[in-house]
Amino acid sequence: MNHTDVIIIGASAAGLMCAIEAAKRGRKVIILDHANRAGKKILMSGGGRCNFTNLDIDSSNYISNNPHFCKSALSRYTQWHFIEYVQKSNIAYHERDHGQLFCDNSSKDILKMLLADAEKYNVSILLNTTIDKISYTNNVYRVTTSKEKFTCDSLVIASGGLSIPKMGATPFGYKVAEQFKINILATSAGLVPFTLQPEDKQRLESLSGIAISSIVKTGKIEFKENILFTHRGLSGPVILQISSYWKPGDKITINLLPDVSLFELITSSIKSNPEQILKTLLTQLLPKRLINIFFDVTLLETKIKSLSKTQIESAVNTLHNWSIKPNGTEGYRTAEVTLGGVDCNALSSKTMEVNDQPGLYFIGEVVDVSGWLGGYNFQWAWSSGWCAGQYV
Ligand SMILES: Cc1cc2nc3c(=O)[nH]c(=O)nc-3n(C[C@H](O)[C@H](O)[C@H](O)COP(=O)(O)OP(=O)(O)OC[C@H]3O[C@@H](n4cnc5c(N)ncnc54)[C@H](O)[C@@H]3O)c2cc1C
Repeated sequence: MNHTDVIIIGASAAGLMCAIEAAKRGRKVIILDHANRAGKKILMSGGGRCNFTNLDIDSSNYISNNPHFCKSALSRYTQWHFIEYVQKSNIAYHERDHGQLFCDNSSKDILKMLLADAEKYNVSILLNTTIDKISYTNNVYRVTTSKEKFTCDSLVIASGGLSIPKMGATPFGYKVAEQFKINILATSAGLVPFTLQPEDKQRLESLSGIAISSIVKTGKIEFKENILFTHRGLSGPVILQISSYWKPGDKITINLLPDVSLFELITSSIKSNPEQILKTLLTQLLPKRLINIFFDVTLLETKIKSLSKTQIESAVNTLHNWSIKPNGTEGYRTAEVTLGGVDCNALSSKTMEVNDQPGLYFIGEVVDVSGWLGGYNFQWAWSSGWCAGQYV
């Protein structure tokens, strides 16, 4: 039986960060992962350029049943700490909209940085390793794997959520939580495209490829970014963001002209250009394909001066207040994140240790803390991993 101080299950963002920090403190750390390489999600993230954090991080950018839980970790290991780490490693990066930071070259840079430090501090990473059994007796965890049996003083679960099973996502972490009688909040796919009801899908199919700025709303939550029409349904950053707040059966409201008041434009055109037909005015604002789907031909051919009050109101409503009920989401197959998970109330927000189970820790996406699109999920993985790394 191989005894070590710390075993971490999951060799990705949260697990590597925790391992490095624990090893820096002189702890002997082994990471176990069933995948054939470490950090697969880091590699595929941010379109291959890893949106590794955000300049503007706040607990309000996270969804959790306990919205206060993430504050402690995020304030102790902040985006500024991770940016400093990236700078010290000479990784070139740039800022995009909304303070999102991406690598200039490749996500590989972030993974290489973490793996180099893991090696520097003698962290052992065992890949292609299936975990068969975990047990706990006499303050020691026993981990039986497809290769060896281990014992350890601290066991860290960093096995992520359910998104992208093809990349190795499994419910492993939730099963461990269940084994130790830790509450799990219902999981669902977040940051995920919407599928449409068959009639909407058919009607909107020809808009595939169109991306426009819009405001999308569900309940009191709204986001302003691009919407993308796809052959499967609705996607783009604004849809991914709102999907994390959407509940099945709910409608979403979409403002396709967030920066213009169509009512004001029509009323001023009645004076300045009364002979112009509605189609000419609308196609200056939005793609012709979209206008043709949203309005009937007769209305489009009507001169601005001849539009009735009801017609104007209806046109304004159609574009500023488009209401649609998604059929569902594309699910874990394409979701960037898993909502729900290990109940924060079962964990210490300072150490990430289970309150009633000494030596057992949960970090990263397996915990019920899910970030917005924009680098927030990696920051949670870095922060929660760093915190646990100080105590394991
Ligand atoms: C396509 C895509 C793009 C993304 N882009 C971004 C982005 O740009 N910015 C951002 O902030 N977030 C992004 N995310 C989210 C981000 O990748 C995750 O939130 C983050 O990776 C979570 O880190 P983690 O270490 O907790 O879990 P993961 O990165 O999911 O790692 C879990 C590890 O555990 C291993 N594992 C799972 N089950 C088992 C098991 N049974 N036995 C052994 N090992 C197991 C896995 O192989 C994996 O290595 C993206 C996600 C996806 C899917």
